[in-house]
Amino acid sequence: MPEKLIYLIVIHYSEIALKGKNRKYFENLFINNIRKHIQGFQYSSIRLYESRILVNDVNPNDWINLKKILFNVMGLENFILMIQCKSELEDLKKASIHLITNKTFKNFRITTKRNYKNLPFTSQDVNIIIGEFIQKKSLKPVNLDSPDLNIYVELLKDFSLIGVEKIHGFSGLPANCQEKALSLISSGIDSPVASFEMIKRGVSLDYIHFHSYPAINRQSINNVKKILKQLVNYQLNTTLYLVPLLTIQKQIMEIIPDKYWVIFFRRYMVKIANDIAHKYKAIALVTGESIGQVASQTLSNIRAIDNVCDLPIIRPLSGLNKEEIINKAKRINTYNISIEPYEDCCSFFVPPHPETKAKMNIINKLDQTLNIDYNQVMQEIEVQHFKYNGDN
Ligand code: ATP
Ligand code: MG
Repeated sequence: MPEKLIYLIVIHYSEIALKGKNRKYFENLFINNIRKHIQGFQYSSIRLYESRILVNDVNPNDWINLKKILFNVMGLENFILMIQCKSELEDLKKASIHLITNKTFKNFRITTKRNYKNLPFTSQDVNIIIGEFIQKKSLKPVNLDSPDLNIYVELLKDFSLIGVEKIHGFSGLPANCQEKALSLISSGIDSPVASFEMIKRGVSLDYIHFHSYPAINRQSINNVKKILKQLVNYQLNTTLYLVPLLTIQKQIMEIIPDKYWVIFFRRYMVKIANDIAHKYKAIALVTGESIGQVASQTLSNIRAIDNVCDLPIIRPLSGLNKEEIINKAKRINTYNISIEPYEDCCSFFVPPHPETKAKMNIINKLDQTLNIDYNQVMQEIEVQHFKYNGDN
């Protein structure tokens, strides 16, 4: 009877390792997050072993699905399906045969890392011996610089590992390892990317979306919900606050000259977001603004908007070009949702010549003419929770 191979997934993390005294906290959270991501898959245990995470006894037939899911784990630098062997050359050779069977490749290399230094062979010995063995079996040459197939070997204290398909994740920090912030999310391309960048740094994000229903339809609301279903694949759970902005917009449009409308819409969005953030213990706001991208995103206008809140506003995309943002949106799978048609609460009412260099004395004067009580709006906020369920 053929010997049964032991398959496991080896996960490497990056920055968590730098966390000094807090390292245990980050590692435990990271492991718990991985557990939540791979719920529903077969494995015997998941544990920390010599600065890597091992997901033991996985079914290699699940790899194709596990690949997609583990890619979404924040804090993960790379992962690879490996066969567990004894730290003996003969055992590594046997396992290597399984890795190349049914694989087409033009050339290959062996990349060995020796963590346990007391073995009778070095990593270079393994590269040479296993390399020669594969060369004989496959009749394919070695290519050290850009191999078609890279065979990775890890030599550890109690056993060794060998595998071929290393997948790079997003790195960053484990989801939800940091304090809470509130992200202003539209269904456009930018704010989902800005939110993702913060999730990647471990920020526990909740979301706030402003809509102008019933003056415009609920499409932006539906799109935001779809975006959040995608973003909980990274963050695991979150809350969305849906705020009706229409009554406030109407009051602004009655009193304020049209070129300042968008600035005042934004000021009220930020004021309300600031209040909601305080209420739910978020300590920063996040937006998808990028300097100079549209009229409301000049430095002057950003100043006129910032001025109404006491929490910091983080703008992860402020220095990025549109093309860079679009590429990222595609990579995190929000782009196709963002380009679905929708009417935005601001662009629907946007005047032909919006102010691009708002002066603070004018803004302050205009502000005094407004007397908006948004208590009623605060009563009408809808709340929805999103939770990762493994098949979003
Ligand atoms: P996005 O693609 O994120 O909509 P944008 O390039 O369209 O950004 P603006 O429409 O000026 O730019 O919005 C700037 C930022 O203001 C957005 O990134 C988002 O953080 C916030 N924002 C805009 N509209 C809304 C909304 N309806 N609800 C909540 N936040 C919003
Ligand atoms: Mg927008």
